Amino acid sequence: MGMVTTVDLAWAVGFLEGEGFLYSRKDSGTMILAANQVERWPLDRLLRIFGGRISARGTQNPRWQPQWKWEICGPRAVGILFTLYCDLSPKRQAQIREALRRWRTFPAHASVRNNCVNGHVYTKKSTRMVVMFGKLARRCRICATASHRRWVEKKRRAS
Ligand SMILES: [Zn+2]
Repeated sequence: MGMVTTVDLAWAVGFLEGEGFLYSRKDSGTMILAANQVERWPLDRLLRIFGGRISARGTQNPRWQPQWKWEICGPRAVGILFTLYCDLSPKRQAQIREALRRWRTFPAHASVRNNCVNGHVYTKKSTRMVVMFGKLARRCRICATASHRRWVEKKRRAS
């Protein structure tokens, strides 16, 4: 990533809102954020902002123009989704939550922290999605319960 401005991010939100799509590899569950375009320049801009890669896509039909595809995989794709989440439409937000839910059910994501600071594994049941400081974040229910219990205990002792 080079110098990324808020204008870049606002542009990326608008572009990905309309053109972006999410899927995951069947074998590994790797999340992929991608966009297809006939024009290459928007994809070059995404590449400059987020990284990833661009490839040419041929087409069987000679009447169709060839397309370019930008894609970014794994933790970096997830990072982008977390960053842009709040500025996307409710429909897109729902797709992202669903994709993250599916993604979390795959056990091995070695490069991504898959447990909370206290080592509890993030599972569908133990994780709550919350919006914090304008970003989507995962919260551990076990820690939240423990911290609440400590708070109650402290209050009880104080009185
Ligand atoms: Zn925890």
